[in-house]
Amino acid sequence: MLDYAGVYELLSPEEREVQKAARRFLEAEALPYIRDFWERGEFPVHLIRRFGEMGFLGPTLPPEYGGAGVSSAAYGLIAYELERVDSGLRSFASVQSSLVMYPIYAYGSEEQKRTFLPRLASGEMVGCFGLTEPDGGSDPDGNMKTRARREGDTWVLNGTKMWITNGNLAQIAIVWAKDEEGVVRGFIVPTDTPGFRALEVKHKMSLRASVTSELVLEEVRVPEELRLPKAEGLKAPLSCLTQARFGIAWGALGALEAVYTEALAFAQSRVTFGRPIAARQLVQEKLVRMLADHTKGLLLAWRLARLKDEGKLRHTQVSLAKRENVAAALNAARMARDILGGNGITLEYHAIRHMLNLETVYTYEGTHDIHTLILGRDITGLNALE
Ligand SMILES: Cc1cc2nc3c(=O)[nH]c(=O)nc-3n(C[C@H](O)[C@H](O)[C@H](O)COP(=O)(O)OP(=O)(O)OC[C@H]3O[C@@H](n4cnc5c(N)ncnc54)[C@H](O)[C@@H]3O)c2cc1C
Repeated sequence: MLDYAGVYELLSPEEREVQKAARRFLEAEALPYIRDFWERGEFPVHLIRRFGEMGFLGPTLPPEYGGAGVSSAAYGLIAYELERVDSGLRSFASVQSSLVMYPIYAYGSEEQKRTFLPRLASGEMVGCFGLTEPDGGSDPDGNMKTRARREGDTWVLNGTKMWITNGNLAQIAIVWAKDEEGVVRGFIVPTDTPGFRALEVKHKMSLRASVTSELVLEEVRVPEELRLPKAEGLKAPLSCLTQARFGIAWGALGALEAVYTEALAFAQSRVTFGRPIAARQLVQEKLVRMLADHTKGLLLAWRLARLKDEGKLRHTQVSLAKRENVAAALNAARMARDILGGNGITLEYHAIRHMLNLETVYTYEGTHDIHTLILGRDITGLNALE
């Protein structure tokens, strides 16, 4: 992998193996075909079971629940390799691992863990995570209209969720709703429950190799056994987002590597005025900026992984890494597209696909600006968010 500062030497042998195996697998089974899926606006569903076999789904969870018990850096490296191919593949795995398996693992009952986690880890079952609503995602508390009404041992859910990754692929949805006291609660909702509908969002120009859906819940009846018993308040879904953002901080660097490598190779072979464009200072400056951002980003991601394993990671540190690494990847993709000239606008090259994908990554899981305000609040003690 692209590694200017020698981060590879800081990885354990197991972590290196995970990275190598993921790259080998994805180069053979995903990279050659991803462009066509992206162009058709389809997620490559045949890869789901293969992801399970490769251990990409819930890899940090203990083996008793179907995970591999690997480190946070190994999880990050899987995200890196997936997003080096396409942000849509990484989004699928992030949702399954961090937004579906993690909440069941952290907030579920023992029975829920044993019922769902092994099937989610193998890819036999797909999940989605419904927090965002049509009125806005940046203020999930203020904008949450979905309600859960208790009737004896049953909860009745009503509401609409928007922009939900994997919505039309999922057999279960983790749905966040306010109860009659206004407390946010989490539910495992089987998607074949009467009153539940998933409507696919069409005409996306970003994350095309990913399924995005609107979820409509009308009098959806869920038994008390499917409520996540330890989830109470907004901090539960927010803690899931911290897990996913950690993976995104790694994943974005995979996309950055892809566009940097492509732009460098193109610049070395493209000749204008008798010399390769790579010999021009303006082009070199762009390539160096990409490399510098990747190098700093990888060091930050590695450090956060170690803090995570030590139980010391703060969510604001994850905000910093998500904000910086995604912005760096998006800027790099735009620069790579520019270096490729006219060729850069076609799907023959990867740059524009990554560039368009990264527009979503910049916005979801907390927009760039929302993370700015989270960090601003942390360092000044003054809240500019609300
Ligand atoms: C392809 C895709 C997949 C997604 N997958 C999921 C998923 O699986 N599950 C899920 O729950 N959600 C998902 N999301 C939703 C995503 O998390 C939201 O889009 C995101 O949180 C932003 O919410 P919004 O789009 O409603 O924008 P808004 O919250 O309406 O924000 C609009 C703009 O206003 C800015 N803004 C908002 N508040 C402030 C403020 N206080 N100060 C300054 N600026 C502000 C924002 O930065 C942004 O630029 C997905 C989104 C996309 C596009």
